[in-house]
Amino acid sequence: MLYSTAKKYNLLGHVHNMLDTVTAIPKLTWKRLVTNSVHHRYKARWQMTCAMYPKLHVYREVVSSITVSMWWHVCRHSPAMTKNCKLLMTLIAGEHRLRTGRGRHVASTLNCQNCDMHTPETLRHVLCQCPNPVLVAVRDREWHNLTVMMPPPMIQDIVMMPDQQKMVLLLSGLGGGYVSEWQGVYVGIATLITTLYRTHISLWSAEQRAAQVPE
Ligand SMILES: [Zn+2]
Repeated sequence: MLYSTAKKYNLLGHVHNMLDTVTAIPKLTWKRLVTNSVHHRYKARWQMTCAMYPKLHVYREVVSSITVSMWWHVCRHSPAMTKNCKLLMTLIAGEHRLRTGRGRHVASTLNCQNCDMHTPETLRHVLCQCPNPVLVAVRDREWHNLTVMMPPPMIQDIVMMPDQQKMVLLLSGLGGGYVSEWQGVYVGIATLITTLYRTHISLWSAEQRAAQVPE
């Protein structure tokens, strides 16, 4: 039983070493080894499961560890943001109504119909690229509201980033754990993303999408 458990969690080498040298690993060191091995095994299994679902490609980039989402902490500190944070989580999980998401079932093309870029209607396109004048106005306004709360070097770094990296950084809440001093910035990010998404969807209404269903 002990042998098979050690094998399952890739700890057999340590067990053999203890038997060969007749030297026990200190209790705390063994505890740390077991914790790391168990965590590593379940993280690998979780990553493998995520890799099986193509629509989780944004999720895989945004979420790097099995832990409570930082957007949950944002909700807890600003309950008025609950709806926006829920929408954020669905966007991260690839559950959006864009033509590259659920919208593809009723659309004749995957390309954005809110502009002339002839490019797929992805989350990145909506958040960073779509030049539709209505969307540009919302993007400028919400970006301004967000950046007034950021230190200039951070703004400079984000502006210089490629769009994909920028999108991942914003969706992940600046890529790190929750820091209470940054609550205002997190709220600004959630507002920027959800307002852009809702505006983009409203420009191309559900009725118009339904009309695109092929005969
Ligand atoms: Zn567009």
